[in-house]
Amino acid sequence: MDAQTCLKKLEYVGVLAFATVDENGAPQIRNISAIHYEPEAMYFFTAKGKAFCKELMADGRVQVLGYTKYKEMIRLSAKAVPSPETEQRTRIDTIFEEQPYLANVYPGDTRYLAGIVFEITDAEIEYFNLGVNPIFREKYIIGNGQITFKGYTITDACIGCGKCAKDCPQRCIVSGKPYQIQQEHCLHCGNCYAVCPTHAVEKRG
Ligand code: SF4
Ligand code: SF4
Repeated sequence: MDAQTCLKKLEYVGVLAFATVDENGAPQIRNISAIHYEPEAMYFFTAKGKAFCKELMADGRVQVLGYTKYKEMIRLSAKAVPSPETEQRTRIDTIFEEQPYLANVYPGDTRYLAGIVFEITDAEIEYFNLGVNPIFREKYIIGNGQITFKGYTITDACIGCGKCAKDCPQRCIVSGKPYQIQQEHCLHCGNCYAVCPTHAVEKRG
């Protein structure tokens, strides 16, 4: 898997969930299909009058989530910015050509007055496949995106008792000094953290 394949998969999914936070700190989420994809970028259309646009303008942070029929979750964490003014018209036209239904929603030139295109060129992409055994997760970036680490890790306080490995639902802890978590197969369920007698398991992030 890689970032480009993740974007392709999102394109096949078609309708994605976009999450932001509003001015009161409350989560806001909506589905968007007015999206144009490039190998390392995503462009999406919304209306300038929508709260979504206001939230993007105020902060820009957005999470984009898609889920395939093969139980693959793909999540982008990114900052969205408006495409340059000089590119707005072309970007809008590209998205409307690829998504003909939009011409019913914003007929004629109303699209240019109402619409705005945002772009995502820097992002962290999380791929999480629950349809394979063991489960598989990995992170990638596009542009200047940053990888953040989550889940758990085992420190030198490990005494090798094996309790964590026994209670790991994915059997992804291997023995050693210290024991080690295979991060690509970890659910982040926290069982190892809960059962370790020496608190050798630490949370990441
Ligand atoms: S439960 Fe804790 S001490 Fe025991 S093997 Fe796992 S990490 Fe090491
Ligand atoms: S968090 Fe859960 S899946 Fe991951 S290593 Fe610990 S017990 Fe296993």
